[in-house]
Amino acid sequence: MHSLSAPRQVAVFGATGSVGASALDVIARHPDRYRVSVLAAGRQVQALVALCLAHRPAHAVIADPALYGALRDGLREAGLDTQPHAGAAALDELAASAACDTLVAAIVGAAGLSSTLAAAAAGKRILLANKESLVLAGELLMRQASLGGAEIIPIDSEHSAIFQCLRSCDASFDGAGVRRILLTASGGPFRGRSRAQLEQVTPAQAVAHPKWSMGPKISVDSATLMNKGLEVIEAHHLFGLPGERIEVLVHPQSLVHSLVEFVDGSTLAQLGLPDMRTTLAVGLGWPQRIDAGVAGLDLLAQGRLDFEPPDRDAFPCLGLAWQAMAAGGTAPAILNAANEVAVSAFLQGQIAFLAIPALVANALSTLSVDSADTLEVLLTADQRARQLTQDAIDHA
Ligand code: NAD
Ligand code: MG
Repeated sequence: MHSLSAPRQVAVFGATGSVGASALDVIARHPDRYRVSVLAAGRQVQALVALCLAHRPAHAVIADPALYGALRDGLREAGLDTQPHAGAAALDELAASAACDTLVAAIVGAAGLSSTLAAAAAGKRILLANKESLVLAGELLMRQASLGGAEIIPIDSEHSAIFQCLRSCDASFDGAGVRRILLTASGGPFRGRSRAQLEQVTPAQAVAHPKWSMGPKISVDSATLMNKGLEVIEAHHLFGLPGERIEVLVHPQSLVHSLVEFVDGSTLAQLGLPDMRTTLAVGLGWPQRIDAGVAGLDLLAQGRLDFEPPDRDAFPCLGLAWQAMAAGGTAPAILNAANEVAVSAFLQGQIAFLAIPALVANALSTLSVDSADTLEVLLTADQRARQLTQDAIDHA
């Protein structure tokens, strides 16, 4: 039935990244249902032009304004009539425009907030991978989406799992029938190590995730467990549950993507191979199921499912995220900004692995927490935390 209607027009922001590639893979399997109408990237002009050749969008955006000429020339040389754009304002405009009805929000970091808010206000279907926007401005974004009539479908595997489990009943989002949600965590590449054993770890070791293939920033976040901390805050906003009813369970096989326990004693889980194409297919097709190119789960071949508690001493980032969520207001924005700056410095070899939690803790204890009523307040907190953290790195 669906194939008789016009295909959905999909904008993929963060197209040159890991989630972007998975989204484009699923979309290309269903040319009758989805068309790529906008592709956007941060700075990778060549890769963006190559994706435009493959997917023929009407618009392409490069976020760095200095690269506009390179994008325009690259598209022309490729013989494409894709319209070139540059800058953050172009991202916001296209996210809200008639050029798309669906946005895959897969920019990494707080840079993804503005265009996601624009799509929310314009009532789009948002496939939300960019968790940092929820951590930075969760209340604002959820409110904007509800006012604009937007539909937010989580792409993070844990939140997609919870989203799917919650759809099994009418307890849905006021949380009445839900006792708690359990977010699973792989434990990252350093699971089982003590704090002392984490002192010398390198960026190359940190980004070598045992189960998921992901961009560098989220890979480091997985190694520090900050990723799980950000996800707890993300879950709080998406599903409207207080922190006490969100728990974290380490599950090294990464096959159970998360669980929901209901008041009647039922626990539902969603399982599958660790492949983001599944969650993107859920987001694109919902409430229908579409092929994602992902094989089913062979539990006999996998053999076992293990669970253990997270080690909060070796991985203090998880506790820092709980602390920021409990403090509320601008605290999660401070946590997120300090973490982005620290992770970037770690990836560039400027600081040690254990300096990441230390810098985040420093920002949280130094900066005052304000109530997060407006975007301006949140963005000011974000900027202050970036500055403070950068100064701490420069003067170390
Ligand atoms: P990535 O580093 O592979 O890709 C990031 C993309 O964002 C690239 O296309 C890059 O060009 C673009 N970008 C960077 N800065 C930008 C800017 N200022 N303006 C516009 N575009 C910019 O990252 P990823 O692993 O694909 O992750 C993307 C987001 O999805 C992150 O928020 C991450 O936490 C989330 N996520 C990723 C996965 C995964 O499996 N990779 C899983 C769950 C959630
Ligand atoms: Mg996740």
